[in-house]
Amino acid sequence: MKKTKIICSLGPSSYDEDVITNMVNNGMDTARINFSHANKDEVLKVITTLKNVREKTKKNVALLYDTKGPEFRCGDFKDGGINLIPGKLVDIVKEMVLGDSARFSVNHPDCLNYINKGDTILLENGLMKLEVIEKSDDKLTCKIIDGGFLGNKKSINVPGVNLNIPFINEADKEDILFAIDHEADFLALSFVSDAEDVERVRELLKEHNSDALIISKIENKTAINNLKEIIEISDGVMVARGDLGVEVAMEELPFYQKEIIDEARRQGKIAIVATEMLESMKNSIRPTRAEIIDVSNAVLNGADAVMLSGETTVGKYPALTVKCMSNICKTAEKHLSYNVDFKHLKKDFKNAISSSVVETSNILNAKLIVAATISGNTAKAISNLRSGALVLATCTSYKTARRLALNFGVYPKVTNVYDTTDEIVDDAIKNAKEFMDLKENDYVIITGAFPKNSPTNFMKIEKI
Ligand code: PEP
Repeated sequence: MKKTKIICSLGPSSYDEDVITNMVNNGMDTARINFSHANKDEVLKVITTLKNVREKTKKNVALLYDTKGPEFRCGDFKDGGINLIPGKLVDIVKEMVLGDSARFSVNHPDCLNYINKGDTILLENGLMKLEVIEKSDDKLTCKIIDGGFLGNKKSINVPGVNLNIPFINEADKEDILFAIDHEADFLALSFVSDAEDVERVRELLKEHNSDALIISKIENKTAINNLKEIIEISDGVMVARGDLGVEVAMEELPFYQKEIIDEARRQGKIAIVATEMLESMKNSIRPTRAEIIDVSNAVLNGADAVMLSGETTVGKYPALTVKCMSNICKTAEKHLSYNVDFKHLKKDFKNAISSSVVETSNILNAKLIVAATISGNTAKAISNLRSGALVLATCTSYKTARRLALNFGVYPKVTNVYDTTDEIVDDAIKNAKEFMDLKENDYVIITGAFPKNSPTNFMKIEKI
């Protein structure tokens, strides 16, 4: 069984129930709905499909919504896209039109006011490049420097230019309220700049009685500069390499990836690596060697989860891609070091019990840790310390179970509320045996809380 979690973005290639079922059976842990692309009718259908898949597979697949955020994107095209030919001209217009090879619109027309003659405009995560040669009140005329096929709603970056797009606009707010009403387990926030951005969304969630977990996407230099404070107020972070690789020098990406994961792990928060992980599998049944090494390195860097985007939204082989990613992760996990140093931990109750559990499990080479948890926090703390053993988190609600879907090595299972420690231990052994093939003399470490509602306060070593 793999420990690294896999997030799959859903799209036209993966809306079908059989396809999602295969993806879940191949290792998908969380479904991602990207508000930049999805329309609400499609989303409603896919939520129903996902519920059927949960029922069928008995897996607690979580739902993550990703906001558009202050993203600058092109509009739609008459024929779904245009070919940009180097040397030719194309206009970016303020008017809302269905684009063609002569002109196209953008989602925030006012941004054109801040772009000037001589500025460089990067399209689709920097794949295509334009240079502004003329500016008028209603349009920018651009020379195509690097061409390619530009599809509907692709990203636009203008390095070094502040486009003054508000962090949460009305459309985002509407999307967030939709996510709250439709069982959001996680909310990923695009283009977070500082802790205040996250704080505002946290307030909005609170106002609407949602306790969805917040994942801050790190995708520009300002967010890197404010990394520590952003992580402090978030439940997790995503290394959003698509936009980050356009906003900073691409060659720096491996080092930012390490820095972001290290800081998240130091603070006990979820770390996700995203974008172009198995990009070639959009059209091929095999990944490139470089992609295998990239996914593997994300695991070795300490990521909790890795994410698929275009591979599963528009790719030809969504289920196969998930299988391939699972295999790469499983292999990389064998090479991870599980000898974690606990010196950096704050000396508190939670760290005392979770580090004892992990250390005991590693000393005895235990096969499994069973953590009976109500909030999920004990399982999260154990996961962050990276035991060599898998963690079976027995929890009392499906909501808690789904919110463990991004923590490394944690497999949640919904169980009863226990009244005695004997019940916790007896049920833990029963669940452990159902969960995996345990042999005589295998060790299982059990941890939980008694009496009910106290913090996790005991550990038991069980030899099968
Ligand atoms: C990214 O930029 O890497 C990313 C994950 O965000 P999006 O897919 O919304 O562009």
